[in-house]
Amino acid sequence: MTTSNPVSRRKFIEASTAAAAAAYVANPALAFALGKPSGAAHGVDSSHLPWRDQGVLNLNNSPYAKLHSVPVRAVTIEEGFWSKRRKTNVDSSIPTMRDQLLEHGRMDNFRRLVGKSTEPQKGPVYSDSDIYKWMEAVGFALQSGDLPAVHNQTAAMIKEVVAVQEPSGYINTYYAQDRAEQRMLQKTQRDGHELYCLGHMLQGAIAYYRATGDTTLLDAGAKMVDDFLIPNYGPGPDKKPIVAGHPEIEMSLIELYRTTGRKQYVDLAAYILHGDDRFKFEPSRIVYMYCGIPFTTRTKLEGHAVRAMYACCGATDYYLETGDQAYWKTLTTLWEDLSQRQMYITGGVGARSDGESFGEAYELPNSQAYGESCAAIGNMMWNWRMLAASGESKYADVIERALYNGINSGMSLDGTTYCYRNPLAFNPDSGEQIRNPWYDTTCCPPNLERTFASLPGYFYSTNKDGLYVHLYDNSTLDWHLENGTPLKVVQKTNYPWDGDVEMTVSPSEPADFVMNLRIPGWAKSAKVAVNGKAVAGAKPGEYLTIKRRWSPGDTVTLAFPMAAEIVASNPRVEENLGRVAVQRGPIVYCMEGLDQNPAAADFSEVAIVVNSKSLKAFEVEHKPALLEGVTVLKHNGAVYDHGSDKAALYADATAAGPKARAESLTLIPYYAWANRKPTEMVVWIPSART
Ligand SMILES: [Zn+2]
Repeated sequence: MTTSNPVSRRKFIEASTAAAAAAYVANPALAFALGKPSGAAHGVDSSHLPWRDQGVLNLNNSPYAKLHSVPVRAVTIEEGFWSKRRKTNVDSSIPTMRDQLLEHGRMDNFRRLVGKSTEPQKGPVYSDSDIYKWMEAVGFALQSGDLPAVHNQTAAMIKEVVAVQEPSGYINTYYAQDRAEQRMLQKTQRDGHELYCLGHMLQGAIAYYRATGDTTLLDAGAKMVDDFLIPNYGPGPDKKPIVAGHPEIEMSLIELYRTTGRKQYVDLAAYILHGDDRFKFEPSRIVYMYCGIPFTTRTKLEGHAVRAMYACCGATDYYLETGDQAYWKTLTTLWEDLSQRQMYITGGVGARSDGESFGEAYELPNSQAYGESCAAIGNMMWNWRMLAASGESKYADVIERALYNGINSGMSLDGTTYCYRNPLAFNPDSGEQIRNPWYDTTCCPPNLERTFASLPGYFYSTNKDGLYVHLYDNSTLDWHLENGTPLKVVQKTNYPWDGDVEMTVSPSEPADFVMNLRIPGWAKSAKVAVNGKAVAGAKPGEYLTIKRRWSPGDTVTLAFPMAAEIVASNPRVEENLGRVAVQRGPIVYCMEGLDQNPAAADFSEVAIVVNSKSLKAFEVEHKPALLEGVTVLKHNGAVYDHGSDKAALYADATAAGPKARAESLTLIPYYAWANRKPTEMVVWIPSART
């Protein structure tokens, strides 16, 4: 019972692709956007179709993007740190999440509306978005190579999704049948996630399109925007107002513009980012939703963390297309707030469980930390956009911090259970099951899956002068410079366990261009050489720019000394007073109770010794069999015999305190916590000068 008209929609998308290809011939500036000229966009060598060349974001024609994305398929991540996670994602997480989604009726919600299921509607208002986010994970996974089984399953699911689209273009399984009259009411827009679901549909559709060229889902998503939304909603007295409710639609509309070239999607995103004062909301609601008033009036991060991060993504996407300086000013103000007052050392964001929200400045509790996996992912997505807009390494540093820590912790090592919240301290006596295979609000699991599947797309960018290298792992880039020169870059490294990277740079023939190498902000120093000859100027927290004539087989070696460091936080972070964290390279460490000697297993009695000899006191050992291979740190600690449970509630502070015993403490990477049996965990460890 298909009610959409996919044929005409598909024709439109193909026509816009063909028009873009024709524009290439007339305008060489568009060459990069469209790949190699092929005369026409279809009916010829499909390896040159524009969709194949579009990255995580398609920034090739974005006038205010200083950096342009490289397609996911252009980078192959080889045996190393991320390969295990990505293999598990494809072999285990994506298939088991599909089983979970089916088992919990998320596809029956679609089938029900066309008489193919008698099951009742299941799941919260935003349940459709979980299917779309999972499809996006599949779309990205298929960009790294075909997976026939999951490809066929997804194609069949897409058919079932588009079958429920109504002639008006509307598609949402929650606001159907008895609830249809609630569609797009003010209250529904505020809480009902209709446009959030549409946004995820568009993102899923775009990732799948960039993998396969198949526009079935994209046609349906665009139809809802074109036929249902734009004619009826928007500015002007003849149209009804919109509020995003949960930002997400903004960034997806702009990516839809980047995919189709149709500017009205940017205009609609601009209108939503501005808010419509015909809708009145309580001030607390405006804070919580992070939308409904002009984005450019925001001065700090507050409210629901995922909403705020996604709003920032959409606003940065808007800046990348328009260069609107008011947006850039707001975005940099908010980023300052993020990095100076609101971000965990793990890259997680969102301190409070209450409202899944940001707290006050410096409110960063540990065991109570919310740190939703989705919010850390939103942080990475936002910083990817800020990096593209600026070319500044500080944004890549946040991406790396979130990716290796607060995002990576969200999925168990076996890929089948997930954290919704990612606390920085944990006691199993609380009874909380921190990793679960399923949440009724299952936003985080498919969000993690789409992130790991899209990871190759975050390694490199290009600009007109050359290549940017953002992330380090064993990998091969097989792509080209923006002037069309084919370029291969091979990375060999044991990163993040050690800081040596050897890179082979091979343009197809000798060529003048710039290599911009990210020197991580955590590095204390860096040595870089080309063909064995030292290159000066490497500064942590910046890109090292090497401009030269590169010849096939040139080698670049990078050495970032990777000593463990002991980190203190701003004293205004109350919970961290007297405590320190340990970081080595990009990896944040934690202690788990079961790794300690019995004498040091009660964390209320344990401190880590911090003095002038501390940094030399770390023992570093890589353990290939532990937690799928981790580098473990040991450091001297002090165990006090407070007898805390027997001591008085209050006592004379000037009296001699309890004596400390020396004890060795063991630390593991934070991302790997809670992968064995339940045990206490702490990132911020009390420090002692003993
Ligand atoms: Zn989530």
